[in-house]
Order: sequence, then C-alpha cells, then structure tokens
Amino acid sequence: MNTVSPTTDVKDFLSQEPIPHFINGGFAPGGAKPQAVMNPATGQPIAQVAMARAEDVATAVEAAHAAFPTWAALSPSERAVRLHRLAEAVEANLETLAQLEALDVGKAIEAARGFDVPFGAECLRYFADISVRAVYDRPLAVKNIEARVHRAPYGVCGFIFPWNFPFTLLCWGIGPALAAGNTVVVKASEVTPLSSLYFGKLAEAAGIPRGVINILTGTGPEAGQPLAEHPLVKRMSFTGSTPVGKLIGRICGERLAPCKLELGGKGAAVVFDDVDVDAAAEGLAGAITLNTGQVCCTATRWFLHEKIYDRFVDKVAQVLKSTRIGPGLSPETAMGPLVSQAQLDRVLGYYEKGLAEGATPVVTCERPAVPGAEGGYFVSPHLLTGSDDNVCFREEVFGPTAYLVKFKDEDDAAARVNRLAYGLANSVWTSDLTRAQSFAEKIVAGNSWINAHNVFAYGLPYGGVNLSGTGGGVNSPETFDDYLRNQTIARPL
Ligand code: NAD
Repeated sequence: MNTVSPTTDVKDFLSQEPIPHFINGGFAPGGAKPQAVMNPATGQPIAQVAMARAEDVATAVEAAHAAFPTWAALSPSERAVRLHRLAEAVEANLETLAQLEALDVGKAIEAARGFDVPFGAECLRYFADISVRAVYDRPLAVKNIEARVHRAPYGVCGFIFPWNFPFTLLCWGIGPALAAGNTVVVKASEVTPLSSLYFGKLAEAAGIPRGVINILTGTGPEAGQPLAEHPLVKRMSFTGSTPVGKLIGRICGERLAPCKLELGGKGAAVVFDDVDVDAAAEGLAGAITLNTGQVCCTATRWFLHEKIYDRFVDKVAQVLKSTRIGPGLSPETAMGPLVSQAQLDRVLGYYEKGLAEGATPVVTCERPAVPGAEGGYFVSPHLLTGSDDNVCFREEVFGPTAYLVKFKDEDDAAARVNRLAYGLANSVWTSDLTRAQSFAEKIVAGNSWINAHNVFAYGLPYGGVNLSGTGGGVNSPETFDDYLRNQTIARPL
C-alpha cells in the first residue's frame, strides 16, 4: 500500500533524541530514562521521548502557578484572540499533526486529517468564543444585602490523557480550561505522546505566554500520580480506564480537589426489526472499525431483533470482510493496527476467553498479513455471539469487535443493556422515531444516539455516568462553567 511521505517537520521532530517536554515556554529533558515510542504498523521504534518524574511535574506545576495571575488577568477577549491564534497554528500544521497521529496511534491518516486534528482546532475556537460571551458577575437580588456571584478561574488545572485520541482529547480538555483563564499541565499518554508534545511548539509559536501550557509525558505512577497529588493543582481531569480513574478520584478526594473523570464504556446498539438493515449494518461496522475499535463510547454489544438477525449478520460480515486494513500512513487504509503489543495481546486474549466461555464466532478474528508492514499489531474486525454472561459481553475489550445477542421484547432489551455498570453511550436503531425517543430514555448512559453511533459536535454535551465517569463531561457550555469557581461577594446594607 502507498504511504504518505513524512513532512520535513515530522522528520525533524522525530529526530530529536529525545523529544523533550514543553515546560514554562521551553523544551526540557525529563529526569527519567527516555523511552522509545513504537510505530504500531511495524512494531519498530519511531522516536525516543523524554520521560518525566515527580520533579519535572513539580517544575511544570510551579511554572503554571507562576503564569496564572497574568493569564487570568487578561480580558476574556485577549485570551480568546490567543486561542484563535493557537487554532490557526494547528490548522497550518494539520498535515504534520495528522501524520504524527497516524504514525503514533496507527489511525487512518484520512481520519486524522478529517476529524482528529481539525475537530481539535475547532474546540479551541468554540471555547474561546464562549468565554467572550460568558457572564462573570451576576448581581443577586437579596433583601438588605448588596451581593453578587463572581466567577473566577481555579488556577493550575492538571490533565491526564489516554492513548486513543491524543490530539482531540488534549484540545477537549485544555480548551475550556484555558478559555476560562486557568493555566494547564498535561500528562500525555506515554504510549502516544507525539502530537501532544508537538503542540507545545505551536503554543510557543502562537504566542501563548510561557507557563500557561505545559506538556509532558511519563508513566502513570511516575508522572501522572504526582500531578494528581500536587497541592498547587486546583482542579484535575482524567480520561482513561475505569480502574485508574478510581485511583485518581481517590487521590483528588483525599485533598478535596474537584476532578472530572471520563472513563471506559461498554456501549450497546439496539437494532429494531423496522430498520434499513443495510444502512444499520454499515453504521455499526463503521463503529467498530473507527480507530480500530479503540473508542471508549463505541457500540460493542449489538442487540439485534430476532426477525432481522440473519439478514443483518450477512450484511455486516460482508462489510467487515471488505475493510481495508493497513498502516495508518496509507491514504487507502480504512482501519489501522491496534496501538501496541499490549493492546494486541488484550484483544486476542478476550477473543480466546470469549470462545472458552462458550461464545461462537460470527466473523472470525484473524491476523491479516499487511505487505510492507510486517511486525505490525494488525487484527481483523470480528464478531462473537453467545450468552449475556460471556466475558466479551460484560467487559471492555477496546478493539475492532462486538458481541451480538438477539432480542424480541423491547423492555427485555432495555433491561439487558442496563445490566452493566458502565454508562457512557448507547444507540437505538429504528425507523419509528417516537419509539426511538422513548427507548433512548430507557437505556441508561450519558449519551443515547438515534440511528447512528459516535455522534460528536460542540454544543452536544458528552460524558458518562456510573463506571463511565463523573464530573460533567466535555464539549458543551457547561464544560466551560466547570472551569470557573463561584465566589459570593456580599455587603449587608
Ligand atoms: P489508562 O487508564 O491505562 O491510562 C490513561 C492515562 O492514565 C495514561 O496517561 C496513563 O499513563 C495514566 N495512568 C496510568 N496509571 C496511572 C496512575 N497510577 N496514576 C496516574 N496516572 C496513571 O487508559 P488507556 O489504556 O491509556 O486508555 C484506554 C481507556 O481510556 C479505555 O478504558 C477507554 O474507554 C478510556 N477512554 C475514555 C474516554 C472518555 O471520554 N470517556 C475517552 C478515551 C478513552
């Protein structure tokens, strides 16, 4: 398969040994031993990256703390102008960022060009614009007291991100925090840190004052935990797995720092017998091949009405088997490799466990040979069916796979969807839009989508409940409000 040639900027960036952190407006080495970042399409190293320890995290937090008063004192419009400049820098470097994302995560370059990078830039603009229109002081009509509620930024906000959508999640996280006047320290995933570290260069070029944005990487225990524990971090945001989210929640609870948790999921799609079967099959095939199924909210349990089960399976098998699998850097690729050897082991391990617990393959799991990309972490999209007690029905696999079950009765389907403690996103597929609306309410999650799965837009709140998260979610005006603290100012008359 043809692959795009890396831009000069990509080559220069990757040739640094190691790629440094971005702290206090400059590029800093980390205290821990640099680590190789792997190309998931080949299993070979792409670059060496500096790794942070607690001391580096402390330096970054102190820089963000020192930068806070000046950044917070700018008017919302002055900050918004800088965030728009930053968005422009992202757009001007779209190809470089998309290539880094495709190389590092393994995602299809066309998806990185068309979604991950531009949608990140749009986020910076969205929250910049909200900040200009926001009300920061609200007078209170209270008997015998002159009073108002004043809204102010918290100070330093800490962010820990996972490896699956590094660039988009970075922007979703820090966009609202910066627009509200906070400064930020980011711990990017050590598995896919490249686009986040490159973003530091853009922040510098866009004239973001030094110390306002700090980006480092390192392991969770060595760099993530010290960030969550640091007393100068006044607000935390964690996106990642539920077990680590619980740990971050405990750390923040101990020191009473507000914390946003965006965690794992086990989304369901419920397909009624009145759907356009071909369109629904194509939609759900797309949901599990998007980002090689490494999508927290995607549809991984498919409830198919018994009347259309066979037709649906025939169509979806045909679509999945024709998926073009290849390296992320190839424009012909529809689905890239899994992100790492560990993720490959996990996905294959779940397939084996599922079979051992009695599941039947509907579309088998293969290791496709990809010419020119030997050694890559490739796996074919696959489907299992069986009982609701199977491990692949109950647990998050995080790969290009779904577990199929039949249903006949609507209430029974809703009860089975709601049986798990995850609550991130589900979808309902039917041509009866009245039924769609009422069923969407019955399935408990932060998001219910109708005749589509994975629906994102700014202004559409996105977040989880139960084991999928807490703390308000992202992408809406309320996300901006989350990054302002309320202060009541009152004078008895
Ligand atoms: P992970 O929880 O293993 O790691 C996430 C981040 O936490 C990484 O930066 C990691 O270094 C850090 N970390 C790990 N251990 C830590 C510790 N002890 N202390 C502090 N930080 C620590 O998750 P992952 O494997 O990178 O990502 C996959 C998970 O993320 C999936 O469960 C997926 O559903 C979830 N996810 C959720 C959303 C959402 O919006 N709800 C979005 C993307 C991914």
